[in-house]
Amino acid sequence: MARHITPFEERLYTEYDLHGRVKLCIALSIILFLGFLILDWVYSPQYLSTFALVRISVAALATGLYFMTKRARSNKASLRLAAAIVLLDAVGIAILIQFLGGFLTSYYQGLNIIVMGMIVIIPFAFRETIVLYALTWACYAVPSFVRLALVHETLIVNGQPADIWRFVVNNLFFLTSIIIVGAFGSYSMDSARRRELSSRIQLEETTAQLKESNIKLKSLDELKTQFFANINHELRTPLTLMLAPTKAVLDGRMGELSPVMRDTLETMQRNGYKLLKLINNLLDLTKLEEGKMRLKVRAMNFTEFTSSLLSSVKPLADQKQIRLYFQHPPHEVDLTIDPDQFEKVTLNLLSNALKFTPKGGKITIYIEEGASTVTMTVEDTGIGIPANMLETIFDRFSQVDGSMSRPQEGTGIGLSLAREIVSLHQGTIRADSALGKGSRFIVEMLKGENHFPASVLDRRLDEQPVGLKRRATDVEEPRVRDIVTDFHRLQLVDLERVDIGSSGGGDKTHDALILVIDDNPEVLKLMKMLLGDEFDLELTTSAERGLALLKEKGPDLVLCDVMMPGMDGHAFSRAVKADETMKHVPIILVTARTGAEMLAQGIQAGADDYISKPFDSVELKARIRALLRIREVESELALVNQNLKMRTSDLVDQQNSLFLSTVKSLVSAIDAKDEYTRHHSTRVTEFTLKIAGKMGFSEKEIKALELASLLHDVGKIAVPENILNKPGKLTDQEFALIKEHPVRGESILRPVIELRDIAQVVRAHHEHYDGTGYPDGLRGREIPLGARIMAVADAYDSITSERPYRKAASHRFAVKEIIRCSGTQFDPEVVEHFLEIAGSLSQERDEGPAPLAS
Ligand code: ADP
Repeated sequence: MARHITPFEERLYTEYDLHGRVKLCIALSIILFLGFLILDWVYSPQYLSTFALVRISVAALATGLYFMTKRARSNKASLRLAAAIVLLDAVGIAILIQFLGGFLTSYYQGLNIIVMGMIVIIPFAFRETIVLYALTWACYAVPSFVRLALVHETLIVNGQPADIWRFVVNNLFFLTSIIIVGAFGSYSMDSARRRELSSRIQLEETTAQLKESNIKLKSLDELKTQFFANINHELRTPLTLMLAPTKAVLDGRMGELSPVMRDTLETMQRNGYKLLKLINNLLDLTKLEEGKMRLKVRAMNFTEFTSSLLSSVKPLADQKQIRLYFQHPPHEVDLTIDPDQFEKVTLNLLSNALKFTPKGGKITIYIEEGASTVTMTVEDTGIGIPANMLETIFDRFSQVDGSMSRPQEGTGIGLSLAREIVSLHQGTIRADSALGKGSRFIVEMLKGENHFPASVLDRRLDEQPVGLKRRATDVEEPRVRDIVTDFHRLQLVDLERVDIGSSGGGDKTHDALILVIDDNPEVLKLMKMLLGDEFDLELTTSAERGLALLKEKGPDLVLCDVMMPGMDGHAFSRAVKADETMKHVPIILVTARTGAEMLAQGIQAGADDYISKPFDSVELKARIRALLRIREVESELALVNQNLKMRTSDLVDQQNSLFLSTVKSLVSAIDAKDEYTRHHSTRVTEFTLKIAGKMGFSEKEIKALELASLLHDVGKIAVPENILNKPGKLTDQEFALIKEHPVRGESILRPVIELRDIAQVVRAHHEHYDGTGYPDGLRGREIPLGARIMAVADAYDSITSERPYRKAASHRFAVKEIIRCSGTQFDPEVVEHFLEIAGSLSQERDEGPAPLAS
């Protein structure tokens, strides 16, 4: 049984306490072996003393093994001892069995106990179990068979000799079955143990990794927080240096200010305040997170405290036409708080209520006093908060609609700061709301001051010298109150309304009108200041209104913010560029977000240019001018282009008419050659066009056909006049020469580009519908349609005209001839249309006798 034990198995045996189990197994063996003397006493009293000797010997050996376990240090040694006790037990029982007649006794059941006990108590590997099972089986079966072979015993059951083999089979059957079941059990238990340990090891590894990551994250977070605090800190100093002088200038300490300058400085101050508030909030949060914020608590009349805050909110509420109510107990309500910090909580709740309550709404503050608590509730009739957000809104940066297009300004810090401050006061804050019906924020504070842990209190006295006031943990420097005297205004600065004034920049009119769209009125004001002297401006705070103004006023250029509630800048650009009437207006998108992706989005939306905030006014103006100039050049080019197009089309017309006159002169030259067929080409053209008109030819097709029929006999130029005008019968040679004229005609026309298409028609005008014509013997629809029409017109004119070799025939005769040859010489469809116009031709032709020859 000595085998190599892997580290995994070492762990397995240690986990399963192999050592302890082996000890238990040995102890159990001793107890059971001795205990079963009772069975010997009842079952086989005749062997009691012998069996007692065997059992005591086994117990003594087992005791020896037990003591050996104390010295067994390794799992390998323990496994050996476990195998030894199993085999010792098996041998012990096998001896007793042989006394009782081998297969003839039921003492083999003792072996069953070993088989089962082994798999339950000792975590043997499957292989080891099988070896031990085989040995146990052999301990029983081998001596029993030997005995059976050597000793001839007869067994009497119920007075009858019984067949011994029945017992052999019975006992071996049971023992073997138990062994097989045990083997399966051992296999599944062994794999289960190994699986369980693998999972545990994996879990331990994962936990260790998580622990490590957690430690790393924590240290990163600490670094981040520290960095955050430093940055905020660094931001406040330059901000102070900007805000303090601005205030001095606004107070008139540097002389009288013009209205425009005052307005500009106020905008700067307001936005400086916004930035300062944001930085303060972030700084407060950082301090709270690091546990560095201390409270300077004092007992005060809470009603009076809240009332003074309400008065500072009143002007803003009036502006928005929101009614403010205050309900409180008639007596003083004493509460111990840090007024500076608690002010932030109350003002934040009030400012949220004002922000999210529409015009005409109502805000009520309730103060209620309980036995040990004071509750402040801020209730509004605003837009409400969805039930699933009631908890999360207190998380840092969380907002109900966190999208770029949310209509209200905000950073999602206020409520998380409020919760932290309230918790520091050992109080609670929660929200209660129904969407569309309003919200309530309930702050519950404990009365007295014993609940404040010493760790959160700032025990320093204000009178202490400055040097003593500073603690190592202090980061507040410079103090907010040094910069801003009106602290309430700082807290509520987000809600201040800005009047952008009228759009127009005075009486001056400029060359270009620019539409500026930005949801922030202060940005519009800034644009007015920057661009008003050079351009006419139209200002609006929404893209939807911008679209309407674009149609109404037709500006030369649009400056549009990207992040706006409702329709954003990209959607606006897409809408403009999709509209044929407005797409030519250049759009410059203005955004606070930078990056290639944003730029790509803007250009994809159709914007002509992109500028990011903060922008330089000189650059902005330069870009506007450049786009306007491009637009101007584009319009000029469009005009020049239009003129050029018109001139080109005039030239083409002229060229066409010149070409036609040339063709007509050529035709007259052909007709002049043949005195009999004078004006033949003109007449054939006239008939051809009449038939084509009936057949629904387009104007372009008619024009081509006109040229083709005018020139159909051009090949006759190559035929000598004496043959053309020969009065008698033509010789075969002469006739062959005449028959060449379609091919010659084609070769005359083909080199002329304009005539290339009609050359084919000219070549085919003597082809017959049934394929008997010349020069190519084409049939049916292989013959160009124009040629099929011309064939009918040509035949009609030939029959009704005088020729050197015959007289002119009558119109009726000609029509009859054409009908006769329909389907052979002529296309029946063309003949049908010819017949429709034939009536109009009869008036132009005199009746005459039938010709002598065709
Ligand atoms: P914010 O600077 O965005 O106002 P807060 O932490 O103060 O940050 O508020 C978080 C969010 O909770 C707000 O953006 C808003 O969506 C929601 N909220 C807070 N107060 C109210 C209220 N009185 N009515 C409706 N929604 C509110």
